[in-house]
Amino acid sequence: MGFLSSLSTELSTNKGQIVDNFVDKGVFLYQNAYIRKRNDMQIVEPVGKKKIYKFLLIAAAIAIAFLAIGSPLIASAATSDRERMTVVLDAGHGGEDAGVRGVRTGVKESELNLKVVLLLGEYFEAGGFKVIYTRKNDTMLRHPNVKDNKKRADLFRRGDIINAAKPVAVISIHMNKYSSAARRGAQVFFGAKSAEGRRFAEILQQRLNEDVNPSLGGRTYSALTAEKYLLECTPYPAVIAECGFLSNPLDEQCLLDPEFRAELAYAVYQGTLLYLNTSGTSFM
Ligand SMILES: [Zn+2]
Repeated sequence: MGFLSSLSTELSTNKGQIVDNFVDKGVFLYQNAYIRKRNDMQIVEPVGKKKIYKFLLIAAAIAIAFLAIGSPLIASAATSDRERMTVVLDAGHGGEDAGVRGVRTGVKESELNLKVVLLLGEYFEAGGFKVIYTRKNDTMLRHPNVKDNKKRADLFRRGDIINAAKPVAVISIHMNKYSSAARRGAQVFFGAKSAEGRRFAEILQQRLNEDVNPSLGGRTYSALTAEKYLLECTPYPAVIAECGFLSNPLDEQCLLDPEFRAELAYAVYQGTLLYLNTSGTSFM
């Protein structure tokens, strides 16, 4: 069974359970945001007026319960959910800055980064997140105050986009290159000054070690610090995911495969949800 079809089977089997959780506990389960979103859509399908009325009654009962309890915490959590659920997705390079090239086909890193980011964005959007992309086209970014250096202008603009978004997570997607062609696998980096960035990177790395790196030669990695503007320009939790080595022909072959990229993007999405759900009080 293909990855996407097994995913949709998984989603449809879990559907009922999520409704029960929502109705019973009156909380949104963010780790199941993707499923919940699908379920919300399900509810407005023509299932008969009775079911819709029943749902409205339950929703009203929950709202009244919140008011009766008088918990400002719960009430404010309900109204500020959307703002707090912004993620920034950054496709590294673009335009005349192609990044590294595939050793066998010469494929541009910038092109693969964007493909992964757009797929990742679909997962987050379906999960109810607001997604801000630093770029959705094959282009370098410009900055009004940086005229002398295109690369610096591009990075500064990305930094501005990130900080304006006030995101819960920043994910920058890249592909790696190494002097030894044998090096394979996905690696995650964080800024040395960010404790949350580190935690995010470690959780995401573990997910990639389990779900992606077995297909990329089987080596596991630990998340590492990197001195990168994108990680240091922001107080929000940011990671760079280097999704495989374009200097290795087998990694390159995987990264060129749409099904592999879907699995990769899904693992990054799942890793991010796992991180967000262990952020203490913020998401439940
Ligand atoms: Zn890169």
